[in-house]
Amino acid sequence: MPAKSRLGQNFLRDQSAIARIGAALGDVSRQNVIEIGPGEGAITRALTERACHVTAIEVDHELAIALRAYLPSEKLTVIEQDVLQFNFADAAAQAGHKLPVVGNLPYYITSPILLRLAKNHASLDRAVLMVQREVADRVVAEPGSRDYGLLSVTVQMYGPVERLFTLPPGAFSPPPEVHSTVFRWRFAPRFAELGVNEMSFIQFAKQIFAQKRKTLANNLRAAGLEAAAVQAALAETGISPQARAESLELDKLAALHAHLENKKAAAL
Ligand code: SAM
Repeated sequence: MPAKSRLGQNFLRDQSAIARIGAALGDVSRQNVIEIGPGEGAITRALTERACHVTAIEVDHELAIALRAYLPSEKLTVIEQDVLQFNFADAAAQAGHKLPVVGNLPYYITSPILLRLAKNHASLDRAVLMVQREVADRVVAEPGSRDYGLLSVTVQMYGPVERLFTLPPGAFSPPPEVHSTVFRWRFAPRFAELGVNEMSFIQFAKQIFAQKRKTLANNLRAAGLEAAAVQAALAETGISPQARAESLELDKLAALHAHLENKKAAAL
């Protein structure tokens, strides 16, 4: 069956990478693992040997049918569905535990999948994900680095991330045009600890990273905040008026947001 590039089909052929992805999930012998985009089942097969059960979500009808035939295991359920529509909360309730997730992601919808996982954090325990190397660079980036931005802040607010390893295009068939990196994400949201509301902080993060070349203050003003209120909040949280959002740690960003929200609430 020819690979469909519009569905991001680059199948993993590197056996040692498959073993490392399985091992990176940790002990799943008593757990149901969710696999995003099982494709021809390279990772799926290894998972069925380690996990209590595997639920594999594949949007491609032909691949879903072929996978059921290739791995006719009671330990595998293949769901033919767009992962962006998958109900993680129901799956976690059925499994009786927070879910481990694994996937060599279809690169054309990497960000929507990461955001969907973030949104479903309450149903998830950890994820081991393969993405384009440049995306992984942004996901794991630290403040002050070139790649630190909205994606880093959003993902890292939902829990710590670690880069695991990188593979060249030749590890896949057909080979993609880019290198691919596997990272692990443990779901442990930081909103309560940092004293901010989830939705309003994510909205704030979008505002402060709206234009990379602008200072944090200018981005906030462009989003409609009063210059005086922004200036006061920066002074009171000890942030330079010239600072850019990409230079600040999550706790500083959260402190600034909490400060602005408190001022807003006090003015009502
Ligand atoms: N896991 C396999 C492997 O590593 O060889 C395949 C990985 S391939 C990069 C991505 C897979 O995701 C393909 O099988 C593709 O059909 C599937 N896919 C693409 N879009 C999807 C979606 N919206 N929901 C679920 N699966 C999707």
